[in-house]
Amino acid sequence: MTTTPCTSAMPARRRLAGWAAAAALALAVPAGAAAPAAADANFPSPEGNTSISSIMTYESMIAELEKIESTSRYGVDVFTLAEAGTEYSVSEQGRDLYVATVGEGDEDVWLQGRIHGNEPYGGESLVALLKELGTSGDAANRQLREKYTFHIIPMYNPDGSEENIRHTILQDGSEARIDLNRDWMEGKFEAVESEAFYEYWTMVQPDFGVDIHHQGLKKEHGTDDDVTLSLGVSLAPGGPTLPSLADGAYDVLTRQMHVHVYDELSKYGSINIDRYQVGGSYEIDIHGGVVSAMMLGLDHRGLNPEGFSSPMVFFETSGNTSEGSLGQKARGKSIKQNVRALESLLTGMASGEVQQEDPERWEDIPHAPTTGYFTDDGVVPLD
Ligand SMILES: [Zn+2]
Repeated sequence: MTTTPCTSAMPARRRLAGWAAAAALALAVPAGAAAPAAADANFPSPEGNTSISSIMTYESMIAELEKIESTSRYGVDVFTLAEAGTEYSVSEQGRDLYVATVGEGDEDVWLQGRIHGNEPYGGESLVALLKELGTSGDAANRQLREKYTFHIIPMYNPDGSEENIRHTILQDGSEARIDLNRDWMEGKFEAVESEAFYEYWTMVQPDFGVDIHHQGLKKEHGTDDDVTLSLGVSLAPGGPTLPSLADGAYDVLTRQMHVHVYDELSKYGSINIDRYQVGGSYEIDIHGGVVSAMMLGLDHRGLNPEGFSSPMVFFETSGNTSEGSLGQKARGKSIKQNVRALESLLTGMASGEVQQEDPERWEDIPHAPTTGYFTDDGVVPLD
């Protein structure tokens, strides 16, 4: 399939000049990289056990969100996309699609989990974060609520989550399985979940965001230590697409986001972070991924005529139900790790620390030497 980068549709946004200036400043300031401690071998469990009985179900998510809404001190609002007024508002199998908001800030932050139904802990992590943001009176959370309005989507794919599969299943008689994270592309939008969340995205126009996934078990290149979290950008920094978006601002800020999370989480001995790669040594560069389309400023159904876009990153927690590697012991650690990664990114963005990081240090985050780009049309090898 052919893809059309929509760089010409990028609006010049006032804020981008600030990012570019911060990046230039950061380049002039040398900073030392913290060395990560070796990971706990039981995180994630390598024993091949997967317990899905303790994973949050759709019904338990709704119950948990409603409980947080009714008990939180700081204005958590839980609603369905039907209530938000999107034209399409339920999953293929008719489940309501849920969002929770918290905070009163002018800047909007998009946090989504479980677009792949068999990658569970983005859901638990986002519910835990919502609870924290809705109940904590400490200075950091107060600053986050003042600066941002958070749009939290714990379960983007409720049908796949209920069936513990990656996809959603079309209900048009074809029973085709659709990867919702390849569906935000002109000529696609095959699943109704894509239409629904796309429209909500155009209503929100978030300033930045995070998408949380799982990968299988992974070893760090060069050390063979267990990796517990990989940091990804679905349009590769320095790759075929990202440097041309928003005058290069996203190529800078996504690297800074990764550097900041890497540094902040390296002090935890049980966490071992590297850069997300595909097939061992390829950088991912897919245009049909949800957060890719958000960076590309995709205009679908005429709902984004000005080509609004914003920078996005994703997290890949190690362990996956399908691969039988999501041990019970890893549950609490995986969720806690994701919450810490989110908190460090959000507080760093709010304080301006992220924007001061040296984007060049993205190269210091462990990764295999890049041999090519994994695109919608296959692998493009590097010369
Ligand atoms: Zn995934």
